[in-house]
Amino acid sequence: MLKFYNSLSREKEKFVPHDREIVKMYSCGPTVYMRPHIGNMRAYLFMDNIRRVLKYNGYKIEGVMNITDVGHLTSDADEGEDKMLLASQREKKTPWDIAKYYTDCFMKDVKKLNVDLPEHICPATSVIEEIISFVKELLDKGFAYETSKGIYFDITKFADYGKLGMDVNSKKAGARIAVDDEKKHPADFALWIKAPKEHIMQWSSPWGMGYPGWHIECSAIGKKYLGDYIDIHTGGIDHKTIHHENEIAQSDCLEGHKVVHFWMHLEFLQIDGGKMSKSQNNILTIEDLENNGFSAEDFRFFYFNAHYSKQQNFTYDSLLASKNALKNFKLAVGEHKKSSEKLSQEKINEYEKEFLESINDDLNMPKALAVCQKLLKEKKSQDVYNLILKFNQILGLNFCEEEKDLPQEIRDLAEKRWQSKLDRDYQTADQLRQELLEKGYVIKDSKDGYKIQLKD
Ligand code: AMP
Ligand code: ZN
Repeated sequence: MLKFYNSLSREKEKFVPHDREIVKMYSCGPTVYMRPHIGNMRAYLFMDNIRRVLKYNGYKIEGVMNITDVGHLTSDADEGEDKMLLASQREKKTPWDIAKYYTDCFMKDVKKLNVDLPEHICPATSVIEEIISFVKELLDKGFAYETSKGIYFDITKFADYGKLGMDVNSKKAGARIAVDDEKKHPADFALWIKAPKEHIMQWSSPWGMGYPGWHIECSAIGKKYLGDYIDIHTGGIDHKTIHHENEIAQSDCLEGHKVVHFWMHLEFLQIDGGKMSKSQNNILTIEDLENNGFSAEDFRFFYFNAHYSKQQNFTYDSLLASKNALKNFKLAVGEHKKSSEKLSQEKINEYEKEFLESINDDLNMPKALAVCQKLLKEKKSQDVYNLILKFNQILGLNFCEEEKDLPQEIRDLAEKRWQSKLDRDYQTADQLRQELLEKGYVIKDSKDGYKIQLKD
């Protein structure tokens, strides 16, 4: 039985999508004002993890992710300046160029990580019309009001406000910012912000020129692609008690019922005892890892070591341990590939069951990985190899990488040598080994097969 922890009920719940075959899933995407760091990447590996587990269970997915290219202020609670504008001043480029550049960086990194991407990836600036209609409807229905600064959501109109755990009353007016006398409640949040003339990103609306608040983009994009019933919504834990409370308020009030049914949150990637974040000046990117001799796949393997609901501490030492573990994992997989021995059906079934139970138990990847490691210790057999390939639908590792790079001529020579060895024609086998060596390849034999490696 597939179970996920739902932040709404604060329980692990059985997961069944509304439409029995297709899962509708929304993931909060990146704010494209800087190169994403590996903490952000943990959030997309988490999304990938859920998507792969759903597919493994036979579901189809209609997935959506936003790209925030407007409206995300330096504080999540409508304070400060738009992050896109700050970046555009810093880099002396237009916000549009900034968005394009950092969206490309983001896409490059998630592709390197082999993240299974959502079916729709939607920039906020491409749905301004939908956002305006959304805000208009909230106003018409009495859930929002206009001030001289913009359109605000009236949280007192939504009895369930704060149901993910936000302490609404702790947001006392004036605690961190000047009191906005026009707001009815200090926690009321902006749906639409009226723009001063000099503001670069602005659109015409029934309330004059302006730009959308950050939270409304996710509600509007979710509605556009997924409608009024969303099975799963994902995001980092930092988005839970402001951004997601606000999304719930907007969407549920507009539709008149609960829109998102499972809220799933990822804990932080930590570094030096604190959250990895730009404001802490402690970020590392995939490129930084590569410059230090690691691959994106090493980081992918590192992700599997901790449950998503627990903080994961990053150090180069632990990444090195993952890199070495991955190397050994792949070597072991390769050894099974070359064997023609069998694993009993009973054992195959046992491993399949154990693996499925692990991933279906709220994505218990450390346990799923342990099942793979145990399987690889079985006597060399093609059945183990086939089973690992099946489990790799979840792991998303590239096992063929090394072999893909080998020229066909080398693979043929190695195979011929192996055959000569099996035929006990050791003289030919030795000649072929020598020939391969001269071409720069070393053959390493084991009980069940051989490996081809580049000569050092
Ligand atoms: P942002 O681009 O700031 O909107 O963040 C993109 C995603 O990364 C969000 O889901 C955040 O919650 C998540 N995130 C940011 N920092 C971290 C971190 N240190 N560890 C895990 N996820 C993070
Ligand atoms: Zn969002």
